[in-house]
This record gives sequence, C-alpha cells and structure tokens, in this order.
Amino acid sequence: MTSVNLPKHTKAKALKPTSRRPAKELCSECGLCDTYYIHYVKEACAFINQQIDKLEEQTHTRSRQLDNPDELYFGVHQNMIAARKTEPIPGAQWTGIVSTIAIEMLNGGIVEGVVCVQNTSQDRFQPMPIIARTPEEILAARVNKPTLSPNLSILEQVEKSGMKRLLVIGVGCQIQALRAVEKQLGLEKLYVLGTPCVDNVTREGLQKFLETTSRSPETVIHYEFMQDYRVHFKHEDGSTETVPFFGLKTNKLKDVFAPSCMSCFDYVNSLADLVVGYMGAPYGWQWIVVRNDTGRTMLELVKDQLETQPVTSKGDRQAAVQQSIPAYDKGVTLPMWAAKLMGVVIEKIGPKGLEYARFSIDSHFTRNYLYVKRNYLEKLESHVPEFAKRIVGQYKLPE
Ligand code: FAD
Ligand code: SF4
Repeated sequence: MTSVNLPKHTKAKALKPTSRRPAKELCSECGLCDTYYIHYVKEACAFINQQIDKLEEQTHTRSRQLDNPDELYFGVHQNMIAARKTEPIPGAQWTGIVSTIAIEMLNGGIVEGVVCVQNTSQDRFQPMPIIARTPEEILAARVNKPTLSPNLSILEQVEKSGMKRLLVIGVGCQIQALRAVEKQLGLEKLYVLGTPCVDNVTREGLQKFLETTSRSPETVIHYEFMQDYRVHFKHEDGSTETVPFFGLKTNKLKDVFAPSCMSCFDYVNSLADLVVGYMGAPYGWQWIVVRNDTGRTMLELVKDQLETQPVTSKGDRQAAVQQSIPAYDKGVTLPMWAAKLMGVVIEKIGPKGLEYARFSIDSHFTRNYLYVKRNYLEKLESHVPEFAKRIVGQYKLPE
C-alpha cells in the first residue's frame, strides 16, 4: 500500500504511556490510545461515547429486548449454559474454557492469532498483552490479571502483520472500543471471546486491596469473588484463604476500584460473540452466554471437552440488594464474626444461579449509578444505557 492510499488513521499519533488520556480519570487503559486508532477515540471510547445498543445491532443484528427479563440483564443471547472442563487446565482462573477455545481455534486454523494477556516476568499481576500464535503462548496467558490491561495496544501490530482472521479475548470496555473500530482493522473475520468484568483496579489499587484483605498479600497467586459470597485467595503454597464479602473493609476499599469500573454498566460484556464467566452458574461451574452464531460455532469446538448442565435460578435478591445500598454507601464494615455468620446464612438462603448474577449486577449498577450521578452528573443521561436505568429504577437510592 502506498502512503497515498493508506487509511487516514495511520497518520494519527499514539499517546505516550504517561500522557493524559482523552477520557481523563475515567480512562480504563484499554490500550486504544496507545495506537494510531486513537484517531477514532471520540467515537470509540466506552467512557466518552456510550453506544452499546448501536454496537449490539452492528454485532448481533439487533439490540437487546428490554422487555425480555433475561436479555435486560444478560444482553442479546441465543442460549446460556453452565459448564466445566472434564479435564481442567491447571493454573487457569476456573477450568480453562477460555484458553481451550482459543487453542482449538488456533490449532484448527480458524484464526491466525489470539489477542490475550500474559504477565511480565517481574510481576505476576502486571498485564502484558500479546498476539499469541502458538498454543503455548495462549496457555501462558491463562488466569486473570485482575488489573486494568491495555489489550488493544497490540491493534497496530495486527494491521501491520496482515493477519486476516483474529480472536480477541477481553473485558467489556476493551470490546466496546474494539467493536467501534472493527471495520478499520482490515480483517476478514474477527472473533470475540469475552469475560464479564467488574471492580477492576490499577496495579497500585490491587496492592492496597490485597494488603487490606488477605492475611499474606505477597503470596497471593489468584483470587475471585465467588458465588458463595466469599473472596477466595489461592496462595503460592497451594493453601486457600476465604474472606466473607460482608467482612471487606468497605471504608478503606471505597477508592480502590478504578473510576472507569465505578462508572461501567457493561458487566456482562454485551458485544462479545461468546461470554465465559462464572456468576450465573452453580459454585465450581462456569457460566456461558452464547450471543450469536459466531459464538455458537466457537463453543461447538470444545463441546466434547465439557460437562454441561442447564442454568438455574433460585431465591429473591431484591431485599438484599436494597439493604446493601445504604450500608455500602456509608462504608459499614461488620466485625469478622458477624460477617462470617452473615456469609453462612446468606449462602444457605441467598440467591443462586442466575439470581446470584442479578444480585451482583443490581448491587454494582446501583453503586455505579450513584457514583456517576455524584461525580459526573453532566454525563449521567447519556452514559448510563437504557437497560441499566431500568435495572437501577427498581431500587430506592440515597441522594
Ligand atoms: P483462563 O483459561 O484462565 O483464561 C483467562 C483469560 O483471561 C486469558 O485468556 C487472559 O488473556 C484473559 N485475561 C486475564 N486478565 C485479563 C484482563 N485484565 N483483561 C482482559 N483479559 C484478561 N466473571 C464473572 O462471572 N463475574 C465477574 O465479576 C468477573 N470479573 C472478572 C474480572 C476480570 C478483571 C477478569 C479478567 C475476569 C472476570 N470474570 C468474571 C471472568 C472469570 O474470572 C474468568 O476469567 C472466566 O470465567 C474464564 O475462566 P477460564 O478458567 O476459562 O479462563
Ligand atoms: Fe483511550 Fe481506552 Fe482510555 Fe478511552 S479507555 S481514553 S479509548 S485508552
């Protein structure tokens, strides 16, 4: 291609790592501004231009049906199931369904590369996005790096490599920006494998979270907020530590989560073809949302390596969510004995399966709505998608 017919965006200048980003403090460091695709930032950035419904139409041929209760919460989908690998991948976040799908797509020649996130050699939680071209490189990216990760920073390399079929693994804000520039990437086919995401942190924020919550912050290799209402930490020596949600030091942790995550309403990764999380599944299982035909073919590739069961839903979340709103707002922290007791009770009688997922969505959307209202009132109307306004509208919020 001569410089005369190069696309306009190739002339744009990526920002230096230390430069302030266009979304200012709301930037989630998705990586787009580290590339010449910054040319499209005003339209593409999830925190400058919320356009989930338009991008749902572009990706899935329709936006979600707001009067369908499951679509209101979980986005456009054909099917949801609970699944786990019959032979889990050691060291994966859950059973390794994400890594397995990526490996099958690469081995089968369906894609030429996979965008995923390894960690740096110095720090197991410092993300290092790569384009994996071998199964070994995909496996080395297994397990969550629970920090903001600039996945899209490799987009320039994709275009320059001449790659035509690509799989991108990522969280909601990364995928919103990706879908917005998808047509500019010169690909024949883009596959998107998403995970849900909430309460992400900067590397410094993660340190504070670990130091405030774990008995041994320096040996944590993995953690997850689980469906049993506890945070599970896995340590280097193989031991597990659990801390009940209700025992978290909310007053100290209030400013740990990144402002981007405090103002995000795309918990369920609405624009991925296939979503693999855990929160709508029974404890120990992964939750899979097939959004469109592309997602269905991706899941088909690994069906014979999975044990599956239908998703279920039990309990009623609404009273628990309503009670937790003012408690979180005031930063109430229970003494550990009371938190443990509450954890045991709620695990027995609390919401389960899809109702647990709704509990988590409601709790985060109400908190985030209040955050945007109090800190970015001028953005409230356009930044909060209609589906989230309806979800939040079920609750009485403090001023
Ligand atoms: P693995 O096979 O271990 O693969 C994990 C994949 O995640 C890797 O391919 C890697 O490239 C990618 N990845 C790792 N860190 C990041 C990152 N920072 N940004 C983008 N991609 C990354 N599920 C829920 O149901 N509820 C939640 O609240 C929730 N929060 C999450 C928060 C974060 C920051 C992340 C990354 C994931 C979250 N998930 C959540 C998804 C869940 O924790 C698992 O990642 C998912 O179920 C896949 O498990 P696995 O064993 O199949 O993944
Ligand atoms: Fe740029 Fe992404 Fe930050 Fe938005 S979130 S300002 S697109 S790096």
